[in-house]
Amino acid sequence: MKSWKRVVARTKALEEVRHGLELANAELLRLSSTDPLTHLANRRQFDQLLEDEVRRGRRNGTPLTVLLGDIDHFKRVNDSYGHPFGDECLRQVAAVLQQHCQRAGDLAARYGGEEFVITLPATGGPQAVLLAERMRQDVERLELDCDGERVSLTISFGVATLDPQAAASPLELLSAADRALYEAKRSGRNCVVEAADLGPDGATVFA
Ligand code: GH3
Ligand code: MG
Ligand code: MG
Repeated sequence: MKSWKRVVARTKALEEVRHGLELANAELLRLSSTDPLTHLANRRQFDQLLEDEVRRGRRNGTPLTVLLGDIDHFKRVNDSYGHPFGDECLRQVAAVLQQHCQRAGDLAARYGGEEFVITLPATGGPQAVLLAERMRQDVERLELDCDGERVSLTISFGVATLDPQAAASPLELLSAADRALYEAKRSGRNCVVEAADLGPDGATVFA
């Protein structure tokens, strides 16, 4: 083969290798940021995004809301119907939450176990509470079937909003949502509780 032909053939081969590596990289990135059971974003992707969204909200002067959702009495579902059916419930709940994340920038993630977190940029408390309420109702309406038996599920939500002028950290925002979720559980579950605005020291009062 003439030497210039060899160079062309080599360049083409290298280009193919490079393309293959790019595809493999993209797939690795997808796998490392996705929850394999529900196909939602995983905790790792959420943690990275939250930091970015807090900064972006401050820069743009827009509020940022997080919803923390936790399936009610989920241990009983596993104990009564088995772990594989529990897994199916998690997939179905995840699909409901995902359906409601319509706006660019909204992200639903599996926070761990039977807990989910939804990040809503440029969204204030009242709007977010309405959205959480719609998610809650749609989970309640899910028609789950285990060997012919109808199974119902409910979910509780804690909602916390970070105003752009508040100095609270991403961790404090999450803690506020977690405390609101705890309140939702304490008030009987299957409900949405909103934490009052985060003060400069990250302290919250319940609305
Ligand atoms: P609460 O209303 O207070 O949240 O009660 P709970 O039973 O939902 O809470 P608890 O923390 O006691 O139990 C959570 C259950 O979630 C226990 C665990 O087995 C189940 N779980 C966590 N991850 C998975 C999973 O990936 N698949 C299945 N099937 N179950 C899971
Ligand atoms: Mg839990
Ligand atoms: Mg639970």
